[in-house]
Amino acid sequence: MSETDRISELEGLSYFIDLDWFQESGRSFTVVVEHCLCLACKERLASEPEAMTSTSLIMNIRDCCSKASGFISPELPLLEKIFRLFLSNGDRSLSLAELIAQLSLYLDSPTSLSPQTIRRLLDNDQCYGFCRKP
Ligand SMILES: [Zn+2]
Repeated sequence: MSETDRISELEGLSYFIDLDWFQESGRSFTVVVEHCLCLACKERLASEPEAMTSTSLIMNIRDCCSKASGFISPELPLLEKIFRLFLSNGDRSLSLAELIAQLSLYLDSPTSLSPQTIRRLLDNDQCYGFCRKP
């Protein structure tokens, strides 16, 4: 396989936030996602937590909180930016190429992003539930 083939194969790998992972590892998706909410949605979550399932939280962030300017700010750690990108896309699966294209809008030096780097980050993550699409 040529180098170009390898890179395009890598770029084609798709990831998503696996809600089952949170369940299986006994973690709360709500806790991880709460700080991504805008003020109004935080208050809504606090007042009616049972109405906010993981899926409805994601849809909510896609349609509301992610529209606020600064939702993905340059100061955020790279993994947090990636997490928020998935949320703003409603957690549809994104290929590494799509991720890098979207991420580069929020980085000073997008050239530092290679599909290898992003794949390693996503595969090693133990916090955000990133999962490779089979
Ligand atoms: Zn909101």
